[in-house]
Amino acid sequence: MMPDSSKRHTPDSQLNLTERDQKVIWHPYTQMKNALPHIPIVRGEGVYVFDEDGKRYIDAVSSWWVNIHGHSHPYIAQKVAEQLNVLEHVIFAGFTHEPAVLLAERLLPILPGKQDKVFYTDNGSTAVEVALKMCLQYWDNKGRSKTRILAFKNAYHGDTFGAMSVSGRSIFTDAFNSLLFDVEFIDLPNENNISYLTSHISNLKDTACFIFEPLILGSGGMLMYEAKYLDQLLSACKDTAILTIADEVMTGFGRTGTYFACEKLTNKPDIICLSKGLTGGTMPLGVTTCTNEIFEAFLSDDKLKTLYHGHSFTANPIACVASLASLDILLKSETLQNIKRVEAKHAVFLEEIKTHAKVKAIRQTGTIIAIEWETGNETSYLSNLRNLLYAYFLDKGIILRPLGNIIYILPPYVISDEDLDYIYAAIKSALEEI
Ligand SMILES: *Cc1c(COP(=O)(O)O)cnc(C)c1O
Repeated sequence: MMPDSSKRHTPDSQLNLTERDQKVIWHPYTQMKNALPHIPIVRGEGVYVFDEDGKRYIDAVSSWWVNIHGHSHPYIAQKVAEQLNVLEHVIFAGFTHEPAVLLAERLLPILPGKQDKVFYTDNGSTAVEVALKMCLQYWDNKGRSKTRILAFKNAYHGDTFGAMSVSGRSIFTDAFNSLLFDVEFIDLPNENNISYLTSHISNLKDTACFIFEPLILGSGGMLMYEAKYLDQLLSACKDTAILTIADEVMTGFGRTGTYFACEKLTNKPDIICLSKGLTGGTMPLGVTTCTNEIFEAFLSDDKLKTLYHGHSFTANPIACVASLASLDILLKSETLQNIKRVEAKHAVFLEEIKTHAKVKAIRQTGTIIAIEWETGNETSYLSNLRNLLYAYFLDKGIILRPLGNIIYILPPYVISDEDLDYIYAAIKSALEEI
């Protein structure tokens, strides 16, 4: 029988890539009804991506915060290509390999505090899931009934169910709220509420862990808070035997000006989650690290005390090699200089526009700057302004994805002064025109 070609999704030469995309793809975080056509990207180089027609875009959001060294980095590409010819993947239970061990050996010493063990997964959400399981089972293995979790109100920790549960309730979680497990949410600390928060925490004796995005809540709207208050929260957690999980999925690898945001704290977390910038934005990989104190609570002759968790692509060698290459670049002095340069340029721009009538608020942490547009209404992810701003910057060849009325720049560290100035100028003209 002849195959019915009308039912087969083969590339239709009559259609361009955007039209073919519209027929077969469901995009993330996108209302597909009335969605703007998706722009076909054919190539990336440095901070730029290029579409089919050769139009150049500055990737000012590091492709959803993952790309720290620029696109198609030749050094990472070379290391990945070499590894592909040697070993693409192997099961990570019962077997190990050099890239996974070497990455753990190199990562652990540069993490804040004393982290002793690396558990590999394959993205930020799963790194968070593992961290939560480690904490909950840690107490269970010790025979203690501590099952509650503490988190920040506008937190974002990922899109799987556990990660969603510990994230703030929002339009993202609305359809699932009744199925998410109960979490104790607290406000971001400031000078007014810090003593209330610390005394509140001291009463949470049945709480297993506190999960937090250090210094800046990303998806929640680039909400920033001070290290000294976070330090006090961690101190209260330690006194109450609450384990602490730093979700550095977004903040890790230089984003906040230091290699890791928790470097700015005196108290160090028990567990750290990493992903996004880990592979330099090349491919997915997740890491959950912990102290020996936590690891040892799972050592037992009792099989039930095992951490039964793992993903098919756990510790993928190619992803580990990409991470090692990204680490080589990150640790170069010129990368740190670039981070400091971006940080200093943002600070000047902040001063320039902070008193503009349409700037409701402006804030900066390291290489991230966020501008809240005055709308007269409540700040909201669904703000119409968002679509206007998004299109305005795209037209100028800049990828900025506002979170509602909040515009933020979160660039690869290699972005030039000229490109930063071009983005700043575009934001200034948007302030006048929109
Ligand atoms: C993006 C993000 C996650 C989820 O990572 P994915 O790789 O998208 O699953 C978790 N935590 C934080 C802080 C993030 O920014």
